[in-house]
Amino acid sequence: MLARTCAWSEINSGTRNLSGLATIAGLLADAFSVLPGSLSLVDGDEAENVGIDGGVTRLAHGQHLRLTVRPEAPVQMLLTGHMDTVYPAGHAFQSLTWRDANTLNGPGVADMKGGLSVMLEALRVVEDAGTPSLGYEVIINSDEETGSFSSARLIADAARGKHAALTYEPALPDGTLAGARGGTGNFSILVRGCAAHAGRNPEDGRNAIVAASEIALRLHEARSPRLSVNPARVDGGGPNNVVPDLAVLRVNFRPGDAGEIERARRLIADVTAAAATRHDVHVEVHGSFNRPPKPIDHAAARLFALVKDAGLTLDLNVAWRDTGGVCDGNNIAAAGVPVVDTMGVRGGAIHSSDEFLLVDSLTERAALSALTIKRIAEGALL
Ligand SMILES: [Zn+2]
Repeated sequence: MLARTCAWSEINSGTRNLSGLATIAGLLADAFSVLPGSLSLVDGDEAENVGIDGGVTRLAHGQHLRLTVRPEAPVQMLLTGHMDTVYPAGHAFQSLTWRDANTLNGPGVADMKGGLSVMLEALRVVEDAGTPSLGYEVIINSDEETGSFSSARLIADAARGKHAALTYEPALPDGTLAGARGGTGNFSILVRGCAAHAGRNPEDGRNAIVAASEIALRLHEARSPRLSVNPARVDGGGPNNVVPDLAVLRVNFRPGDAGEIERARRLIADVTAAAATRHDVHVEVHGSFNRPPKPIDHAAARLFALVKDAGLTLDLNVAWRDTGGVCDGNNIAAAGVPVVDTMGVRGGAIHSSDEFLLVDSLTERAALSALTIKRIAEGALL
């Protein structure tokens, strides 16, 4: 497991590094082909990007790995992970360093190449034990770190009809798992006004910056403890003597539940329509609530209890804590499938050059996963 983790972490696979992603996808396909079933690398959906010039372009993504094993078996699981990292090809953080005998520092060692290695080992052990009652799909996407826009449909499709899901994001250094997760939505609001001379004929202009500012203020005023609203950035405008005809406003929303998503959607529609009328500008809204909130419902609580129980058998105390962070577990939960999404390694400082993996967690977490999967295969959740 460690050798695989090192080999995979030495390859840069930042979400936008398409050649690095192609390399790692090939290595993962080779490694996961020790499992039965049919494996393929598939293209996801195209995602769009709104530039600071207001131009909307299509973003190319790496391929995603999909493995389907015994789709006719009575118990069906989904296992997911991601092959991309947050470190672009030009980032300074590219190599592995041992901090001490148990602490490996490197890009993606915890988030989540170590986790992918744990997932493979657990499935290999489960297959060796012989579990004909279990079928499963594995999805390893290439765009998790930028919000899974390309792979969301693939994950939702794979989640359909599954009894439970495990995702291999890292646990905290002490082994604590993520419980409930908040949701998030990112929007780019494009405002097009009309340019004019600021001194000669300002009345002929339609000020896009003013309209965008009003939208930002109105959205921000509507925030609540259940819905955080963060207008994060405004691009646009130009010289002082020109009424600006373009503004691009970026806003992040963090809804506490599905009802807040609905409220935010209505809010965006109302506020942008009002600003368009009042300032006589054209407003275009891009974006979505790509990560719905993940509450711990009854089915999720049963799955957490099962993981905890498997931990007890292995002398591990498995605990969990709610978090504001988001991942593909949010989307799997939104598809109605119970998920524990931090079944990967113990580690920390992810998304920074201090990212580390606690190496003794590889064996520990693979055992926890294998036992959890085995018990689910035996019908523990049916
Ligand atoms: Zn991750």
